[in-house]
Amino acid sequence: CTGCGLCEKACPFGAITIVNKKAVIDLDKCTLCSSCVEACRKFEAIQIIRETTRTPDMEKYKGVWVFGEQKHGKVQPVVYELLGKARELADKLQVEVGCVLIGANVKEEAQTVIHRGADVVYVADNPKLENFLDEPYARILTNLIRKHRPEILLVPATTIGRSVVSRVAVQLRVGLTADCTQLDIEPQQKFLLQTRPAFGGNIMATVLSQYHRPQLATVRHKVLPESPIDTSRTGQIIENDYDKSFFISRTKVLKVAEELVSAVNISEANVIVAGGRGLGSGENFAILKELADALGGTVGATRVAVDNGWIPYAHQIGQTGKTVCPNVYFACGISGQIQHLVGMQSSKIIIAINKDSSAPIFEVANYGIVGDLFEIVPLLTKKFKESLQRS
Ligand code: FAD
Repeated sequence: CTGCGLCEKACPFGAITIVNKKAVIDLDKCTLCSSCVEACRKFEAIQIIRETTRTPDMEKYKGVWVFGEQKHGKVQPVVYELLGKARELADKLQVEVGCVLIGANVKEEAQTVIHRGADVVYVADNPKLENFLDEPYARILTNLIRKHRPEILLVPATTIGRSVVSRVAVQLRVGLTADCTQLDIEPQQKFLLQTRPAFGGNIMATVLSQYHRPQLATVRHKVLPESPIDTSRTGQIIENDYDKSFFISRTKVLKVAEELVSAVNISEANVIVAGGRGLGSGENFAILKELADALGGTVGATRVAVDNGWIPYAHQIGQTGKTVCPNVYFACGISGQIQHLVGMQSSKIIIAINKDSSAPIFEVANYGIVGDLFEIVPLLTKKFKESLQRS
């Protein structure tokens, strides 16, 4: 160290000070971000030596698994989406697709997931598993993983999925990539390429797990298409019994209260008419509602519109809102920032209405209308109403 001070300037956490012409690093403040190592490249006086541990017998981990989340014994549609992707990844790796069903009276669903692409279904069916509890579910899933060693586990990014898989990751001491929007296999070393928005959604990061197995990823509902039903598919069903130690839980379910059906379920809508800052006020959303009603659709919004109090959060689409995949998505007065796009870009047809012809939304739109939404939306509503009345 020459005491040049470059590292002191580079440290974003104020962890370095030059004392007696030497850099002194405050390890309580240091986050190991490596900025100082970069800054000191010329002198190579700072090094970070990272100890890499590795899952023993990594190459023995084979297969792509899906956590078959269920509700009242019925597998949730997001599982079919994950099975479609699992099938694609497994075919590239030339391995089997496994699906884990945990719950009460879930065995009947084993055949359903086989028809959707699973080769092997691991069933933990017990009345004690009727209500979801993190600890027993995570314990059973971890136990199955230790026994059968899949290389990949895909989990729905739902409240239950997130809760279970984070515990599994800790128990297995492996990483977890949350909210992936794309998954693929790296051709050389067969790693899972896990792509997700990073740094507030400003970039898409692809994450690799080089040293640990299984590779754990969560994916939100509606990001992927569902796998088709093939009733000619056959598979193996493996049922296990668990002793009472598996059911121990620090949480007790006292009562299950059914959630009141939300008035808006934009995730399931076939047509969404979404609005952003361009609407200018909550009242102006009425023109979107009129178009949505004419087409049997529902109204969506950007975060800006929600933050401004123009429309409730249940309508928000994007990274911190819902992910949607309707047949038709109207983006009205929406610029098309990445945090919004990640929630709607898999829509089948995107129609953008924006007065700025250079708005990024036009890059993902199938049809673009450059103009004032206050003129165009009522015209569209009128035309749709007329032609729907005729047909
Ligand atoms: P703007 O970007 O301001 O765009 C308004 C558009 O309206 C402009 O293109 C303008 O040309 C057009 N316009 C104005 N008047 C008219 C008119 N009369 N006719 C036609 N066009 C008109 N955003 C989300 O949407 N969902 C999320 O879940 C989300 N999560 C986020 C998470 C994080 C961590 C962060 C940092 C941001 C998040 N955002 C999210 C915010 C996101 O970055 C953008 O700020 C937001 O999507 C922009 O909303 P907008 O398109 O409505 O507004």
